[in-house]
Parts: sequence; structure tokens; C-alpha cells
Amino acid sequence: MTRLSTHDAIIIGAGPAGTSVALTLARHGWAVALVEKSAFPRRKVCGEYMSASNLALLDRLGIGEAWRANAGPEIRRVGLFSGETCVEAPMPHAKDEPSANGFGRALGRDILDFLLLQAARSAGVEIFQPYRAVAIERDGDMQTVQIQAGDETTMLRAPVIVAAHGSWEPGPLPSQLEKANRPSDLLGFKAHFTGSSLAPDLMPLLAFPGGYGGMVWADHGRLSISCCIRRDMLAQLRKHKHHGPEHQGHVSASDAVFRHLMDSCRGIRDALETAHLDGPWLAAGPIRPGLRSCYEGDIFRVGNAAGESHPIVAEGISMALQSGWLLASELACAPAGRAGREAAGRHYAAAWKGLFSTRVYAAAAIARIALRPGSAALMEATVRNFPKALTLGAQLSGKIKPVPGFV
Ligand SMILES: Cc1cc2nc3c(=O)[nH]c(=O)nc-3n(C[C@H](O)[C@H](O)[C@H](O)COP(=O)(O)OP(=O)(O)OC[C@H]3O[C@@H](n4cnc5c(N)ncnc54)[C@H](O)[C@@H]3O)c2cc1C
Repeated sequence: MTRLSTHDAIIIGAGPAGTSVALTLARHGWAVALVEKSAFPRRKVCGEYMSASNLALLDRLGIGEAWRANAGPEIRRVGLFSGETCVEAPMPHAKDEPSANGFGRALGRDILDFLLLQAARSAGVEIFQPYRAVAIERDGDMQTVQIQAGDETTMLRAPVIVAAHGSWEPGPLPSQLEKANRPSDLLGFKAHFTGSSLAPDLMPLLAFPGGYGGMVWADHGRLSISCCIRRDMLAQLRKHKHHGPEHQGHVSASDAVFRHLMDSCRGIRDALETAHLDGPWLAAGPIRPGLRSCYEGDIFRVGNAAGESHPIVAEGISMALQSGWLLASELACAPAGRAGREAAGRHYAAAWKGLFSTRVYAAAAIARIALRPGSAALMEATVRNFPKALTLGAQLSGKIKPVPGFV
């Protein structure tokens, strides 16, 4: 059966980018439809760390209090775990914030995304979940989005379409990226552990052959460990004799990644010695770091769909929340009609670039160093002699960059 409904805006994807834009537009009186293919709460490949610079925005979105009540400990130190090396340095501090708010913390994406979605629902956003957006078609000054749940198809119409579907899944929408399959692709993995001995205020960067990652305490005694690993390295690990001839061809990707992390990094072994896996490992990707168009073919893009930092800097949630808010602020004051949308698209694209492009380039440079064969040793030596390089890296990656309109 097909049914049709009309809104002012249709948002595709209910990650932090989609809920941020949906919620803000709804607060401006817009009729908003939000389409999400997965049922919530759901876990997600993500390190789950968020900089404190977002707290005023979370307050504005209505979940600041719940975030403060649930998130893990304040992260006051940044570190590097690589081979036998474990170095640490102070995390840069957001001086404009009251000290209790000045450090980032981690909250599970099962909780964060659910809180944001509930806030969007309370603000009057109409939520279509679990529905997958499968096509977008122009229809005069409006656009039609076809969404599907099992055999049921619904058509949604609106003048404004926002792609907030992330960047890791190829698909038929014009805003989705093409399938990638290169040896250098980076695949994402993530797990939660309980009972870890990692210092609660430390977030180490993990550098290991063929990849990088991070560890941080999140909510309710869960340690979040996440990483990216090259496709060719993963294939090699899954074949490796290390797993014993009886397992040839049967080593799961997550087992191979976990073994590799434990074998290549003393800091990870120490932190997980007494720990227990909490839920299954998750995998995603390949990830697609880089800058993309913010507005193309009359479709606006937010979050990873607009541009993505290598997760080595743990800034993707910030960029998603902030880009959603930036776009909604531009749209809310734009005149109706195509010319108004185009002007909003231009202003939004300029604001996006000013706020995030340094972060994307800095993350790419840090990731290149971490991934180059042999350069882990150079990185270890630099950071051992100059631990403040870690603080500087965190600063360059936007950890304390204020959000315009919130200072
Ligand atoms: C290993 C790793 C570690 C990371 N660690 C961190 C970290 O510590 N801190 C940080 O800030 N960032 C981190 N990131 C990055 C962060 O996860 C992303 O940048 C962030 O999730 C982007 O948010 P988003 O809202 O744009 O997209 P997503 O969070 O990807 O949300 C997109 C949503 O759209 C839905 N969707 C997709 N297609 C459709 C469709 N066709 N129809 C309907 N719904 C659809 C999906 O189900 C999903 O819920 C990490 C990433 C990786 C890979």
C-alpha cells in the first residue's frame, strides 16, 4: 500500500546530524519528517567521545542534562599507545566554559542517539522508523522521497530535503556515495568492555600496523574501544597462521582485529587484561573521509554526508550536531522558494567550511602519519620527547573550537 504525506522538510537519517537539524527546524515551527532505517536504541561503530564545546548546543537541543547525568568521566589527558610505548599529555581545555563543562566525555551512541530522537519527537517531529529512504524525485518545486518498511511504501513530499544518512553505506539516493573497494580502504570496528583498568581520565590514541584507533571510558562502566584498519591488512590477518591451521579461513574479522590490537600494543593489553566483552563487536565502512558538497541538486547535506574527518580526532559527533544546527539556522531565516533555498545553501556551505575544514585537513595529516608503514616508531619517538604534540594535535582537531552563536 502507498500513502502520501506533505511536510516542510524531510530529513533522511536520525544520527546526531539528522536529529539536530530536525529538532531545530521543528522548534522554528516547521513540519518535519525524520526517516530512520534502524530501530533505536542501537549500538554503532563510534568511539563515542564528544568535546565539551558542544554542551551549550546540547542544552539548546534539550538533552544537556541527560548527557551530563549519563556520560563517562571527564577526559583530562590524551595519550598515545603504540607498540611498547604509552605516553600521555594534558587535553586542551575549553577556557570559556565553566570548569565542570570544560572537558569532553563519552556517551554510548545507543543512549545519545535515542535521547536526541526522543527530544525531536517531543518537539513535534514526525518520525518514520524503521523506514529506509530508497528514492528522491523532483516534483515541481517539491521533492518526493520514497520510503520503505518491509512491503509498505510511503511517499513523503517537501520542498526541503536533508541528507543525514552518513557516508559509510552506498545506496540509490543521489546524495549517497558509490561503493568503494580498494586495498587501502579503512574499515571501522568497535566494542564495549567492562572491568577495564584504563585510567578514567585518559583517552589514548592507538597506533598499530595498518590502522589507528582509540579507547575511552563511556557511560555505566563501559569502555569504548574503536579502530579503523586497512582492508588489505585485515585480509592478511584473517589468513595468518597465528590463528592456527585448524582455523584457516574461519577467523572472523572482529577476532582478527582484536588479536592484532592485543598483539601490537602493550597499552591495550594492560587496559583489557581484566576486562570482559560487553555485547558483540560491530563493524562498518569503509569510512569516507573528505570534504563533500553541502548543497547539491536541491538536497542539503549534514554530518558525515557533508564531510568527514578521519575518526583519529574523534570529532564526527561534534561536526554532525553542529552542521545540523548551522543548516537549520540558515533555513529558518531563508525566504521561501528555490532562490531562498539556494541562498541558504550558499551561506551554510561557507559556514561549514569555516568551522570544519581545518579539522578535516588536520585529521587527514595525523592519520597519514599513523598509517604510513614504519612511521609509528617516528610518532612514538616524537611524542615520547614532546608529549605536548598530543595536546597540540587535539587543539588542531577542533576540540576547543567554540560553536558560533554559543559563546
Ligand atoms: C572507528 C570510529 C570511531 C569513531 N569515534 C568517534 C568519536 O569518538 N567521537 C566522534 O565524535 N566521532 C567518532 N566517529 C565518527 C562518528 O561516528 C560519525 O562522524 C558520526 O556518527 C556521524 O554522524 P551522522 O549523523 O552524520 O551519521 P550517522 O551517525 O552515521 O547516522 C546516520 C543515520 O542514518 C541512517 N540511515 C542511513 N541510510 C538511511 C536511509 N537510506 N534511510 C533512512 N535512514 C538511513 C542510519 O541508520 C543512521 O542512524 C568515529 C567513527 C569511526 C569509524
